[in-house]
Amino acid sequence: MNRLIAVLSKSRKLKSFIRMASSFKEGLCRVELHCHLDGCCRPETIWNIAKRRGMMDALPGNTLEEFLTELRVSGSGTLAKFLHSFEIYMPVLKGDRVGIKEIATELCQDKMNDGAVYFEATYCPHFLSDDNLTTEEVVQLVNEGFKEGEKKFGVKARSILCMIRDKPEWCREMVELCDKYRSEGVVGIGIAGDESVALEIDFYQGVKEAIERNICRTIHAGESGPASNVQEAIEVFKAQRVGHGYHCVEDDNVYELVKKTGVHLEVCPTSSNVLGNVSPDWTKHPAIRFAKDNVNFSLNTDDTLHFNNSLQTEEDIAMKYFGMSKEDIITARVYAAEATFLPEGEKRELVEHVKKFSVSV
Ligand SMILES: [Zn+2]
Repeated sequence: MNRLIAVLSKSRKLKSFIRMASSFKEGLCRVELHCHLDGCCRPETIWNIAKRRGMMDALPGNTLEEFLTELRVSGSGTLAKFLHSFEIYMPVLKGDRVGIKEIATELCQDKMNDGAVYFEATYCPHFLSDDNLTTEEVVQLVNEGFKEGEKKFGVKARSILCMIRDKPEWCREMVELCDKYRSEGVVGIGIAGDESVALEIDFYQGVKEAIERNICRTIHAGESGPASNVQEAIEVFKAQRVGHGYHCVEDDNVYELVKKTGVHLEVCPTSSNVLGNVSPDWTKHPAIRFAKDNVNFSLNTDDTLHFNNSLQTEEDIAMKYFGMSKEDIITARVYAAEATFLPEGEKRELVEHVKKFSVSV
């Protein structure tokens, strides 16, 4: 019998059947491309880690509910509060081996509960490292956490390491880590951070190196910054994806470029609205135009910890305000699947899976 299996397993057909049968979890059909690992953790997990580490003084509020009110952002003028909230809780996660792995595994469960079959989470390992934990160890811990989550919950998780606009000194290391861990779950490199900060030469050198090493790229651009940042992401950084990209509609030439190149825009409806990066009037959201013009875009959460949102709520918003039908929602899911940084074979399989299980939105 063992011999028969050995012979059969050599057959390419059977191998491909085994792969087809086991790669993606039945029933789940959403794909998320834009979420931040450290912006999507559970508040109770941060609370418990702080307790365990004797760091409760670092957190505001006497109860989990009070702590939550400090983290959740809504209404106008919330950008400062949003940025400040990271400063509040990141010291609790920083350098904590158990906690870092835990938030990665939990993210898989949360995404499963939100109907996601596959997601790519972005993070900058420097924000989670300290004197006792190197950036490389952080990457290893996140990879382990995702592997465990994938095994437990059936959701495939990959990561994107992020360069930060005001930290040019970290660029080189990000490229090296992406390259070194590409077979361990790291599928791409990104740039995030305050768009008003001009990029230093290190970013151009870093991305050039990434292109040469065939590392996939997604750049936060046109979120709060101008259309020219989207143009730069496409033309200079040769990005396959742009994080947000809303302001591309303000320059006809750049909008044409977006349409012509088919670059994928990672739209985050709640985030864009709450942080004031687009008009507070939903009827003026750029995604309405994206949907009408069949621009290549997906719907994403960005930071669920702060926005208390989900892929479900983002799809609801798109149907309510962007004029998207159920079919349009499925199209956006398929576009997301096609824009993943997975190897071509796995990507095709994911696309078919999303189509198959998206029949009833
Ligand atoms: Zn983001």
